[in-house]
Amino acid sequence: MQAVVIGAGPAGLMAAEVLSSAGVPVQVYDAMPSAGRKFLLAGRGGLNLTHSEPLERFVSRLRPPEPRLQAVVRAFSPEQLRAWAEGLGVPTFVGSSGRVFPVDMKAAPLLRAWLHRLRAAGVSFHMRHRWLGWDEDGALRLRGPQGELPVRAQAVVLALGGASWARLGSDGAWQPVLRGAGIDVATLQPSNCGFDVAGGWTPHFASRYAGHPFKSVAIEVEDVARKGEFVATATGIEGSLVYAVSADLREQIAARGEATLHLDLLPDRALERVQAEVAHPRGSRSLASHLKGRLGLEGIKLGILHERLTREAMLDPAQLARAIKALPLRLSSARPIDEAISSAGGVRWPALDESLMLKARPGVWCAGEMLDWEAPTGGYLLNACLATGRAAGEGALGFLRQGA
Ligand SMILES: Cc1cc2nc3c(=O)[nH]c(=O)nc-3n(C[C@H](O)[C@H](O)[C@H](O)COP(=O)(O)OP(=O)(O)OC[C@H]3O[C@@H](n4cnc5c(N)ncnc54)[C@H](O)[C@@H]3O)c2cc1C
Repeated sequence: MQAVVIGAGPAGLMAAEVLSSAGVPVQVYDAMPSAGRKFLLAGRGGLNLTHSEPLERFVSRLRPPEPRLQAVVRAFSPEQLRAWAEGLGVPTFVGSSGRVFPVDMKAAPLLRAWLHRLRAAGVSFHMRHRWLGWDEDGALRLRGPQGELPVRAQAVVLALGGASWARLGSDGAWQPVLRGAGIDVATLQPSNCGFDVAGGWTPHFASRYAGHPFKSVAIEVEDVARKGEFVATATGIEGSLVYAVSADLREQIAARGEATLHLDLLPDRALERVQAEVAHPRGSRSLASHLKGRLGLEGIKLGILHERLTREAMLDPAQLARAIKALPLRLSSARPIDEAISSAGGVRWPALDESLMLKARPGVWCAGEMLDWEAPTGGYLLNACLATGRAAGEGALGFLRQGA
């Protein structure tokens, strides 16, 4: 019995762990010089491993609501993930937002301990080996430093990632390869990404406010409002609150050519209250000091009102109050996928059996971000990547045992 895993990100490493801990020799191949590069990047701003909310709520964040994906995540729940990390000597804690992090916030110690444990269990790593597809005899084509070599294995797990941050390895180049093998793949698209505003910002706004955060605001997309924060970029917007609605915005743009969100600059104050404050006599005070004094509006919040409203509208309390509570922002496009946190699209679910094996390629499983699902930031991505890696590893193990 022998298994090959291609892709040494979290999904592939988890598949390798399941197989190797059952005594199966595993060869891991990856195009990059070292394993888990995107995982390490994820640790740079604090590695958000999973989320502590109730499991059913957690599962409801995954899109599409695919029963197999949900079942796989239930089988490797946030609690199990935390126990697994603890088993690697990496205790975790729940942050104030409910997100779960390693106590030291970092990815490197966890990855180091994990690779050490995998090597000790007999997993061999072959870095700088790019998978190119299958040859005419059905062998895996792997191009390494010594040239191309055909590799055969009874069970293969593909965990090739999405298509963001291509320089870290996941470049999505597998899409045409799998399509060429008759596998249905939804084109990878940016998820948890920034957007460009239609027509761009004025040079004044961009030069003054690019990089500045909108804090304690809400955005409403399709009648659902969410509170949080995001950042203005040179051409648009990005950040956690934008990522949370990125799937809806992307779908609106695909359907209508552009998307509109409404920005509430003062989500904790009712429109009537804002209107009353705006209309309050300001005497000789400038409008800027009036808005700052009565509503705390200044900096980028005031800047975007000037950016988007005419002078007349700024001086009309009713129009100004409405804009403060629901400023429409039209978005023309998502930022390029390479800049995104994650990818939507990938191997479509009908192409897979219950164990995540490709129906068109018996003996080949898929796992991680290369499958057709998406989720917001908050630890859902890594949890689902690890869970699908585990399910694919178990599927491959069952297959090998049947054939043995
Ligand atoms: C800036 C940033 C921050 C993030 N922070 C978080 C976070 O805090 N929490 C969270 O849950 N998620 C986070 N994510 C997302 C998370 O890192 C990914 O969802 C996850 O790494 C995907 O795992 P994967 O194993 O499916 O793919 P990847 O981690 O992308 O691994 C795929 C591997 O396959 C290899 N590969 C690809 N094609 C080939 C080929 N043809 N031949 C050989 N090898 C190949 C690649 O080199 C790579 O090593 C973040 C992402 C980014 C970009």
